[in-house]
Amino acid sequence: MKQLLIIAAILFVASSASAQIRIGKRTINVEKAVQAASDAATAITLSDEDVAELCRESIEWMDANNPVAAPDSEYSSRLIRLTENLKDVEGIPLNFKVYEVVDVNAFACGDGSIRVFSGLMDLMDDDELVAIIGHEIGHIAGHDVRDAMRTAYLAQATRGAISSTGGGLAKFTDSQLGDLALALTDAQFSQKQEFAADDYGFKVCVENGFNPYGMSSSLEKLVGLSQGAKAPIVQKMFSSHPDSARRAARIKETADNHQK
Ligand SMILES: [Zn+2]
Repeated sequence: MKQLLIIAAILFVASSASAQIRIGKRTINVEKAVQAASDAATAITLSDEDVAELCRESIEWMDANNPVAAPDSEYSSRLIRLTENLKDVEGIPLNFKVYEVVDVNAFACGDGSIRVFSGLMDLMDDDELVAIIGHEIGHIAGHDVRDAMRTAYLAQATRGAISSTGGGLAKFTDSQLGDLALALTDAQFSQKQEFAADDYGFKVCVENGFNPYGMSSSLEKLVGLSQGAKAPIVQKMFSSHPDSARRAARIKETADNHQK
């Protein structure tokens, strides 16, 4: 029996004194991010490095708390084979792992980590899988993770400003710190960002000799699945990827034009 991904079960308990987030038994050090917050008037100054560090620590925790496929497993071998030419994006080295969970999902973090769930791998052929991986890389290339983090942070800075006096250092509550970390693993992207990531997925397919229709095909498959028995396990992917039918049609047109 495969384990269900436990992201949703994450409980954030933070120590307000030490600027660390406790997730389960693990303590995530967010001092750097909080320091960045305190030093600046707005979240705009949250650097790529700050976000990458938060991503790195979140991913470390995720890897420790999810069933990562063994390096010599079929899942890992397939992922290694499909991503052998995908070394870095925007100078950020990429790393890939499979979580052996039933969920149909994949996600990226700003530190270059891509995680693909075996439930997704079971449903997609190689072309579709490369397209989805390319899509996730696109979210890194577009700095979408960083932007989601910045948005979450801005919202918090605004709330924090209400309780702070005389422009003093903003004090984050435990739940605000929890929100900040959650923004990394549960980011909601805009349709514009999703379109751009779809374009990136298409590009990755074409440039690496995979089917130009991999992206549209994967989206069409997800649309179909959302209407069938597997609806509950594709729900999560859909909640963060709105309007998949429209996206599928749009990127199929791109592939049609490429073929001409
Ligand atoms: Zn996306």
